[in-house]
Amino acid sequence: MCQKEGNFPSHFEGTEEERMIAGKLDADFRDYIKDMRFFDPHIHMTSRTTDDYQALAEAGVRAIIEPAFWLGQPRTGVSTFKDYYNSLIGWERFRSSQFGIKHYCTIGLNSREANNEALAEQVMEILPLYIYKEGVVGVGEIGFDDQTEAEERYYRLQLELAKEAALPVQVHTPHRDKKKGTERSMAIALEHGLDPGMVIIDHNNEETVKSVLDQGFWAAFTIYPFTKMGNERMVEIVKKYGSERIMVNSAADWGISDPLAVPKTAALMKIKGIQEDDIIKVTYQNAIDAFAQSGQILVSEFEDGMKIDQSLKFNGNTILRGGQSPDNILIR
Ligand SMILES: [Zn+2]
Repeated sequence: MCQKEGNFPSHFEGTEEERMIAGKLDADFRDYIKDMRFFDPHIHMTSRTTDDYQALAEAGVRAIIEPAFWLGQPRTGVSTFKDYYNSLIGWERFRSSQFGIKHYCTIGLNSREANNEALAEQVMEILPLYIYKEGVVGVGEIGFDDQTEAEERYYRLQLELAKEAALPVQVHTPHRDKKKGTERSMAIALEHGLDPGMVIIDHNNEETVKSVLDQGFWAAFTIYPFTKMGNERMVEIVKKYGSERIMVNSAADWGISDPLAVPKTAALMKIKGIQEDDIIKVTYQNAIDAFAQSGQILVSEFEDGMKIDQSLKFNGNTILRGGQSPDNILIR
């Protein structure tokens, strides 16, 4: 969902007053979050445009994590996994820097493609070549989709890999049969001896959050436009559970999603009277604390913004097109 279309990512069936708030936020969310900074720990920028990068930078998003994921159609060979991982640690990281946003990633074999076992075996062999690279802050996103045996096998193998590398784990929980899949993901992580403080359980909802927090894991929430976890529901969760070990992300990708979900949720929290300290935790600090356990995050590199040098090139390539000059295309 593009910010230019002015859609606030929520599906309001509430009162007239609530619709008015949503409409106002739609246009003015930036007014509520002036001088705030954000960290989106789950966003697939490879699938997004330069407009999105500019909008993120303007809304105060200083740093992001791009988890390795499913590209919408199955990959046919290990080479395309290699190229994808290389782009996450290379080109996309560079592209992000050109908009003043610090880019990190997590590397892993996603649950869907774990079901192609012949290919999954080959992917497992190359993962150790990537997880130790600069800017890789965890193993992810891994976990269950259909909750098959193959998914479990490769989830377990990757948990071992993360443990060995002392890296955080970013766990994708299934959209179908979520409660069972979430419990199973946590039980297996504990069985492998992972410290729950090193595991970020993603895509939570009201049904899963209590158990995730009670067991000591980090609870991440993806704010989806129109369906599932909208940002009004997120506000209620923070009111009920507080801000400890909770974080918000957009999971924006090639589907209908909103890259500005984190700043917009912060704006709604402000309107709804949530304390600024709590807002900062769930939209910035907690994600940093969780993933900085990788040893890869240096806050001073982005907290006050990054210097942009659009004359830089990556392997000879630039984000500029004919006739554009460095820096004059960005509004900062
Ligand atoms: Zn994702």
